[in-house]
Amino acid sequence: MDVSKVADQITKVLVTEEQIKARVAELAAEIDAAYAGKELLLVGVLKGAVMFMADLSRAMQIPTQVDWMAVSSYGSGTVSSGVVRILKDLDADVLGRHVLIVEDIVDSGLTLSWLAHNLTNRGAVSVKVVALLRKPEAAKVDVNVEWIGFDLPNEFVVGYGLDYNENYRSLTSVAVLSPKVYS
Ligand code: 5GP
Repeated sequence: MDVSKVADQITKVLVTEEQIKARVAELAAEIDAAYAGKELLLVGVLKGAVMFMADLSRAMQIPTQVDWMAVSSYGSGTVSSGVVRILKDLDADVLGRHVLIVEDIVDSGLTLSWLAHNLTNRGAVSVKVVALLRKPEAAKVDVNVEWIGFDLPNEFVVGYGLDYNENYRSLTSVAVLSPKVYS
């Protein structure tokens, strides 16, 4: 859905559809080069990374497998709870495999840090991370995100997979949600 359809609920567009497409192509090429000759399992974090996974995996030119995890760190609000819980686990066994976590956004980094440790403890050979978006808080924590799409200001964003109360995921761009929607 185009952001113009919900213009009254959006403060501003931070990343356009065209910018996302161009950056995803760059990231795909870098990741292809990094894993050349290796077998790679892409682990997407539901539900926010669905759009990013779909576009990134199709832009990549090395063979990959795709699996999903669902974890909860945010409730229905806009502030991290710090609690990470597995809602849906992987179908695949990561033992002995190269794993790339595909994440929508890194904010406090709590989710990612927990996830990376969890997959490493299961015996993955390597666990790296690509995140489409990163907020300023993420710089303060010790999470190694190898590839980042865009750095964002500290505002609550929706679109391109990211929701507020399950709405706005289908927006083609990333936009700041008007505080009047959640206050
Ligand atoms: P962290 O654990 O890094 O604080 O939070 C990561 C998760 O919180 C993301 O995967 C995402 O689901 C959610 N999140 C963080 N910031 C935002 C935001 O600005 N908008 C939305 N919709 N979700 C966010």
